[in-house]
Order: sequence, then structure tokens, then C-alpha cells
Amino acid sequence: MQNYQRLASFQFKLQTPYNIDISPDIDRALQNNYPEHLKDKLVQRRNQAERLIANQKNVHYYSPAPTIQNRNPRIDAASDSVEIRRNSKFGRLIVATKDIKVGDVIVSENSFAHIIHPESRYLHCHECLDICFNLIPCERCNALYCSESCLERAFNDCHKYECGMAFLFHKYPQLFIRLAIKGLREHQNHGDATLDETYRSDRYKEISELATNENKRDFLNTCVHITIVCLCYHNLIENPHFRRDFDLDAVDDLLKKLLYHSYMIHAFNPFNIKKLKYTALQTRSRRVGTAIYAFTSLLNHSCVPNCEFFHHGTVLVTRAIANIRKGEQCTICYGTSYSSTDIRIRQMSLKRYYLFKCDCKACAKSGHNSRVYLKADQYHRGFKKRLHKTHLKIQKKIDIG
Ligand SMILES: [Zn+2]
Ligand SMILES: [Zn+2]
Ligand SMILES: [Zn+2]
Repeated sequence: MQNYQRLASFQFKLQTPYNIDISPDIDRALQNNYPEHLKDKLVQRRNQAERLIANQKNVHYYSPAPTIQNRNPRIDAASDSVEIRRNSKFGRLIVATKDIKVGDVIVSENSFAHIIHPESRYLHCHECLDICFNLIPCERCNALYCSESCLERAFNDCHKYECGMAFLFHKYPQLFIRLAIKGLREHQNHGDATLDETYRSDRYKEISELATNENKRDFLNTCVHITIVCLCYHNLIENPHFRRDFDLDAVDDLLKKLLYHSYMIHAFNPFNIKKLKYTALQTRSRRVGTAIYAFTSLLNHSCVPNCEFFHHGTVLVTRAIANIRKGEQCTICYGTSYSSTDIRIRQMSLKRYYLFKCDCKACAKSGHNSRVYLKADQYHRGFKKRLHKTHLKIQKKIDIG
């Protein structure tokens, strides 16, 4: 109770441009045997804060995601300028169905599941990942939430199952457990009724079909994965909420399969949600969370990519960073681009983390002196520069506002 009072007092003095409502903290202090002779002072503080809140601006750590102009009728998150194709070399790939101009938004996708990154655990809500200065703790573990509604939503979604087992993983939840739970719930609620033509971003079926490269993993690696999955399985079936919500006898085999498969998916397809800070000299990033996206995960890698993704909270927006011709494959960079990394380091890193040998145009010809790649590189840098300027303007507005 004293802690809530101190928190409210600190936030009142802080007066940041972020919208901080200290009333809930004061209410919690008052409801928990706050000393009678100090109550008047606390109520007075709440009245002062309520007057101030009208002048505060509602600021998020991210800018709103742009909307897609022409939605694709067959793919939830994409524009109608792309489609999913298959070939023997790539498996599934995203191809332009019309000419795409540099800067065009191709995909705007919500995460299927996400978790907080330990680096940001004390400043961001563990459910919506938004910035918050008066986080509320879960009663049983160190998960923190921006509001009662986020706490309730997180608890009813997956937290009730993972809360007790957080100690297994340095007190943090695991993304693959959330994937498996969502898969299990979907199976229980709909069965095969969810099978329709549209490629959806909020359905486990699409997630379950993402690449895992399971057969390329070495034996030791697989043993470690199986051990983690077994630990989670045993903790999950002991959880009273889990036992109440699912008929264990009926879903036991499915649960084991889902946990193992979800582990493989999350190990191979994670996206880091980053908070970028633009200054006149450099761009610094901080990891806020990790997420899985159903459609963006289908974009293949190239060291000279023609698309790049940007985070707007948990929404991932992919834009063209070069003009893309009809029939051309849309690609993103998995972290090692031609413009910043030598071919040997690129190949080593892609082999180690993504288990494939890149043979994009730049890698195939070693491309160090090729004019073609230099031109692509200029596109890339030019577009980034323009984006950088826009973000600087937004940042300036936030600072002033
Ligand atoms: Zn929240
Ligand atoms: Zn908890
Ligand atoms: Zn390459």
C-alpha cells in the first residue's frame, strides 16, 4: 500500500509528457488500509493530479502504423500488389503481381503472439508492450501491466498457464508456449471449421505451416529443444487452470505435438520488436519484445533486399525500398545486408542462424564491385535517409508537444 502511495507521489512530481493517470495507484493505496490520518493528503494529491491530466498528451513509444490502400482479398495483412507462390527452390515466396513503387506499403500485420524482452521489462507493459510509468504487477510473479484491463486480458489469454512456470526461464514467459496454447484452443473451439481460402494472420493453421528446417538441426540442438519442451509439458499439465480449461485425456498427444512444433517454429521465425531512437548523428535501437508474424515470415532473405520492415508497436509494416517490377520476388534482409557486411560474415551468420546458404545476386557474384548492386545499395540508403528525416520530424514534434 505504501508502495502505491510512493509510486503515485513520484509520478506526480515527474510530470512527463506521457499520459500518467495516478488515480488508480492512489485508489489501491486507499483500499489497502492506508493510515486514516494521511488519507486527506492523498485525496488532495489525486484532485491536483486530475486537474493536471487534462494538459498531458497521450504519447506512445511508436508512431501509428500506416494503412494499406488496396487490401488483398486473399491475404489478411497484405496489399493486392503481392501474392503467395511456390517453387522448388524457395518453397513459398512472395511475388509482386503489379509494379510496386519505392515506399509503398506491402504488408501491415499484427503479431500472432508476442512476449516482452527482459531489457524493457520495467518500462513496458508485458501485454500490449506500450510504454508505461506506473505498471501494475501480477499477484504471483514479476509480470507487469499498464492497466487492469491489460492484466485481465493477459491472464485470461495465456498468463494463467505460464505464471507458475516462469521460474523455469529466468522468470520470463516463452513464446512457444503461447503459440501451443493458441493452437490447442483453436483446435478445441473450431476444429477444421477454420479452414477457409484467406491467408489469416490470427490463425494457428498459418503459423503451423511456417518453415522450421527441422531436418537440418543437429542432434545436440534437438536434444536441448526436447528437454525444454518436456519441462514445459509437465508444468503445464500440473497447472490447475490448464486442467480446468482442457480435457487432458483428449488433448494429451496433441499438446505434446503442438509444444514441440511450436518450439521449432519460434526458434526459426522470431522478429525482434524494436524501439528506434533517431538522433542527428545515429539511430539507436532497443529491443522491446519478440513476436511471430504469419505472413511477413514468408518473405525470403536477400542481402540486397527490395523491402524492409518497420515496427509500429506490435504491428509490423513492410515497405518497398526499391521499385519492384511485376513478377519479381519481394525480399527482406534477415540481418546481414550487402551494404554493411562482408560476404564471408553474411554466409557464416545465415548458415548459423537460418541454416541456409544464401545465393542472392550479391552473394552469387560476390558483388563487391558490381554496379548493379551498388545501385540497389544507393536505393536502400536513399530511402532510409528519407525515412530518417521523417522520423526526426516526428521525434521533434513529440519533444515539443
Ligand atoms: Zn498494456
Ligand atoms: Zn503471473
Ligand atoms: Zn546473399
